[in-house]
This record gives sequence, structure tokens and C-alpha cells, in this order.
Amino acid sequence: MAAAGWPVGRKHSDESCLLMGATRLGIDPSEYRAKREAGLRWCTGHKRWEPSADFVSHPGKRDGIGGQCVESNRAISREYQRRKARAKQHTGG
Ligand SMILES: [Zn+2]
Repeated sequence: MAAAGWPVGRKHSDESCLLMGATRLGIDPSEYRAKREAGLRWCTGHKRWEPSADFVSHPGKRDGIGGQCVESNRAISREYQRRKARAKQHTGG
């Protein structure tokens, strides 16, 4: 069994991983698998399937890929910065 593009090495339980992801999204595991095999990942920011190449890297994660695409991640951090700045304004005054 050769899975091109997938990290080779220690074999973890792909099946349980698949099942967990599918359950979380409320879709069929076979549908989830089809998406992943097509090179797509679920973007938690946009709530849609996007090419895995567009995703941010996340060293803390097992597969090294974050939950959002780069674009979505940028929007989130921008919003975070804005909120932080606003909070600062509130306290000072
Ligand atoms: Zn996205």
C-alpha cells in the first residue's frame, strides 16, 4: 500500500483518525476519505474543503498541518490583534 504525498514512517491508526474527522464534520467516513485522497482538508475558518497545500503548518499537530488555510488564519489573527487593541483602549481612559 503506497500513499503518495503522505508522511511515511510510524503507522498510526488512519482508520480511527478518519472516523473521528468524519464524525466531527457530520459526514460519511467514505466521503471524508475521498476528500482526503483528493488532497483536500476541511478548513475550520471557511467551513469548506480546500487544498491541503493552502494550509498553515502547525508543528504541534501530528500531521504538522493546522486547521485553517493561510488566508483564514491571517483573518483570524488580524481580528485577534484588533480585539486586543480595542481592549487596550477600553482599559485606558
Ligand atoms: Zn479557508
